[in-house]
Amino acid sequence: MTDILQRKQTEDDLRLAAISFESQDAMVVTDAKGIILRVNKAFTRLTGYSEQEAIGRTPALISSGRYDKAFYLRIWASLKEKRYWQGEMLNKRKNGMVHAEWLTISAVTSAEGKVTHYVGSLSETTRSQDVEAEMHRLANFDPVTHLPNRRFLFDSLKEAISVSSRSGRHGALLFLDLDNFKTLNNTRGHNIGDLLLSEVAERLKASVREYDTVTRLGGDEFVLLLENLSKDEQEAAIQAGLVGEQVRDAIALPYMLQGTEFICTTSIGISMFYRQNVSAEDLLKHADLAMCQAKKDGRNSLRFFAPEMQATLVEHSTLEGDLRHALEQQQLHLYYQMQVDNARRIIGAEALLRWDHPERGMILPGDFIHIAEESGLILPIGYWVLKSACEQIKIWSKSPDTCDLWLAVNVSARQFHQAEFADQVQRALNESGADPTKLKLELTESLVLDDVSDTVTKMHALKELGISFAMDDFGTGYSSLTYLKQLPLDQLKIDQSFIRDLSTDRNNMAIVQAIITMGRTFELNVISEGVETEEQFEFLDNHGSHAFQGFLFGRPVPLGQFETSLTLQ
Ligand code: C2E
Ligand code: MG
Ligand code: MG
Repeated sequence: MTDILQRKQTEDDLRLAAISFESQDAMVVTDAKGIILRVNKAFTRLTGYSEQEAIGRTPALISSGRYDKAFYLRIWASLKEKRYWQGEMLNKRKNGMVHAEWLTISAVTSAEGKVTHYVGSLSETTRSQDVEAEMHRLANFDPVTHLPNRRFLFDSLKEAISVSSRSGRHGALLFLDLDNFKTLNNTRGHNIGDLLLSEVAERLKASVREYDTVTRLGGDEFVLLLENLSKDEQEAAIQAGLVGEQVRDAIALPYMLQGTEFICTTSIGISMFYRQNVSAEDLLKHADLAMCQAKKDGRNSLRFFAPEMQATLVEHSTLEGDLRHALEQQQLHLYYQMQVDNARRIIGAEALLRWDHPERGMILPGDFIHIAEESGLILPIGYWVLKSACEQIKIWSKSPDTCDLWLAVNVSARQFHQAEFADQVQRALNESGADPTKLKLELTESLVLDDVSDTVTKMHALKELGISFAMDDFGTGYSSLTYLKQLPLDQLKIDQSFIRDLSTDRNNMAIVQAIITMGRTFELNVISEGVETEEQFEFLDNHGSHAFQGFLFGRPVPLGQFETSLTLQ
């Protein structure tokens, strides 16, 4: 009897549950992990997703992507504490439309108090003004700096171009990219990075007129839109240039970020517009190109867009096309530049790439390595360099004149950070049978800073094989003792810019001495590159540089010529 009664009770419960589940409101039941177990018909009507489509997914299915992590964390906190959350939320339907919905979530607990399910109910709200405003804000503004975003910029830009047609006044677009944001973000963390971005946003707003538009494109890129400049082209350009200088100077003032001072400069590209002479997309592209030029010309500077820059871009893509075939057509070669000790004996060489272009003749790495990096071609090219270098080491090992030489190979960031890099090195060594202790990899500081922990892990793995490491162009990057301590380096390579005017520039003398001292402290070998004169050699030798490389001893030359200089010494 009790049994029957109990069963009846359960059935009633179930029926009741089923009826309330098929209510007017959209309902969704998930397990404790948030996997959807059931939805009702109203859910399908509201969201457009059928039961089959929803079950097994998570409520992220209907997420509008308009909220940051903090928003969801608040909901979870409330569910944990009160087992309950309600509020208005923007959700996305299957057709892609975003709607405001009133959402109630309750946590269902077992007798022991453990969460077993979540039940959510959704109903359409007539959007409150707040939500309307919030929607606008989320769609058009950047959450970190509260500046308008790319979308807003494009709308304003189109508007500005057409206003310029009516008013006959010129306008300008200033494209800014911070010069050392990556370093800050990677060394001090993203929170500090965000602090800097907010401060930059404040300074930008303070340096322009009220009716100018300041936007953040994303990352460390900002764009200023200046309208209503002069009717005269020259005068308008002068006005835009003045604003650019003002902005550049404002950004370059020191920042105080959680008690530590930080210096950050910016490179600015400017493109002018007048009437309908250019589309919004092209205008932004032009300003971006000019910004890249400013970066190339030594940062903390500004450049106006010039049509030649467009030509450079075209040239760039032609070269990229040619580079695709360079390997298979055997147009790439390694040159060898000797490295000597303080008695000028050859102790090794650096392998340097040369591209023998069928029409343009010899192209230096400075003119194509960045293209190889951007296009990803650096991966096959870099592997070819490694393999050729290993084969050379093997050949040298067979003769008493050359068996002690080490060979240094430059590694680019993209190449080093690919997951298979260590395996590739291992393969190049195995296939050639080269002695790993004769191979030295040259890394740069910016490569390290891209991802310090990946660099440390990979370096240790490669050191296990017996390979050594040099820090190339040392002193031009961040040269931080903190990371230097973490890296299993063997050699510091003093950048040639410090050596160039060593005899006249007291600063450079001090820097060179400091680097040599630093090397001594960390027990690293120090090599000086770009040694061109006897005076430089003498100074470096007197101050304790262990090794030297430069035109004074020998230029980068083809293999045959390098081997001839070996026999001459
Ligand atoms: P780097 O590794 O710092 O190489 C030294 C550069 O300085 C070489 O330029 C060399 O020719 C030049 N140099 C050497 N001694 C002197 C000197 O006494 N005076 C002057 N003015 N210059 C000197 P190069 O061959 O044009 O290479 C430029 C850069 O291209 C290299 O700088 C390196 O970063 C990169 N590179 C070269 N080969 C490769 C490669 O196989 N892979 C990668 N990823 N990068 C490479
Ligand atoms: Mg090098
Ligand atoms: Mg160098």
